[in-house]
Amino acid sequence: MAHDTHAAWDFPDMFDYDGFFDDQLQQLHREQRYRRFRILKRGDRQFPHALYLGPGRAPQDVVVWCSNDYLGMSQSPVLNDAARAALSRYGTGAGGTRNISGSHDLIVELESELAHLHRKSAALVFSSGYVANDTTLATLGRALPGCVFYSDANNHASMIEGIRRSGARCEVFTHNDSDSLQRLLARGDPTKPKIVAFESLYSMDGDIAPIAALVAVARLHGAMTYVDETHAVGVHGPEGAGLVAKAGLLSQVDILQGGLGKAYGGVGGFITGNAVTVDFLRSDAPGFIFTTALPPAVVAAALASVRHLRHSDRERIRLFTLTAELKTALTGAGLPLLDNPSQILPLIIGDAALCEKLAERLIDRHGIYLQPINYPTVAKGSERFRITPTALHTDRMAEQLLSALASEVQRRHDVRAA
Ligand code: PLP
Repeated sequence: MAHDTHAAWDFPDMFDYDGFFDDQLQQLHREQRYRRFRILKRGDRQFPHALYLGPGRAPQDVVVWCSNDYLGMSQSPVLNDAARAALSRYGTGAGGTRNISGSHDLIVELESELAHLHRKSAALVFSSGYVANDTTLATLGRALPGCVFYSDANNHASMIEGIRRSGARCEVFTHNDSDSLQRLLARGDPTKPKIVAFESLYSMDGDIAPIAALVAVARLHGAMTYVDETHAVGVHGPEGAGLVAKAGLLSQVDILQGGLGKAYGGVGGFITGNAVTVDFLRSDAPGFIFTTALPPAVVAAALASVRHLRHSDRERIRLFTLTAELKTALTGAGLPLLDNPSQILPLIIGDAALCEKLAERLIDRHGIYLQPINYPTVAKGSERFRITPTALHTDRMAEQLLSALASEVQRRHDVRAA
């Protein structure tokens, strides 16, 4: 039995913590923002198969269609072998922060590889992509005198949070609209430092930024550019260097941010940029300095993944082939797929409760796991499934997905009434 409740009757005139959080939970339920996590057991080399453990049902084998493991690297022997070797050579933990306990040579090697990948003079690795965005933007905005951010309206929570915590002023430009950015920048003080922050590939709609136009406008007004490539690195561009590299704009973007937890199949985040900026962040960004470094096995796997994907196109080709086939098939079946040029296939359902019902039926009847994506991750009325094919899904799995969606989503009006 748990003994962890704050018994209000012990301290009748003091603040009722449990009562407060209970009210907050009720509020989340009312706003349909309460999050239910589905429990999933992913076995080594089984993905995209996994064991679905509920809640509230017997364990069931499912095919996962909603991971960010786009290239299936989390199951790759290349990474597993590298991680195992590092584990036996270096043990489990990093031993502390890089600041006070020593900076493992593997992490320095990874940073050098990432800088090289992006043709930049330096890189910095963080414990996650979220932390990379949050602490970098917060530190830059706080340090640059009178800094103003220009942030895309659809930017990820980690960028919004970093910008907010910097205390700097922020202007939000219309999503993917360089004219809107231009109008805002033209009103700004030309003498003040500015940072234009956007993503190259947006994870919920799967749309791609007009990178060249945004960068050109930013440069015209003397603004630094910060581009989040979390969902693009590994997958897009030469050697998996991302969409900025694909557009031939590496030298025009000041800071590129990427993730090691999506296509690279591990965990962590990074930035690459010029040596002075990165060196300053290394010495001043709290989310980098005051936290334990990633463990050697994790770093070894990331390094193996980045290196592998610099010379192997096999995984990318499989992903792009399957994605193109699925897009054609899903659209051909009349399913409400959002059109975009990326590997992310948003299937718009437009109703949170219906999305939940459909997700349950897809698991129950078809052994397919698709996570409903609801508000506030996406706007109310645009609730969806975010279908993410990977290099490890087979044609047979794709056929099963198509037939399951055709029978359940096509009949969504009956499902809603059921
Ligand atoms: N940036 C974007 C655009 C993301 O979608 C995410 C997470 O999904 C992150 C950053 C955070 O990355 P991580 O999961 O490595 O913390």
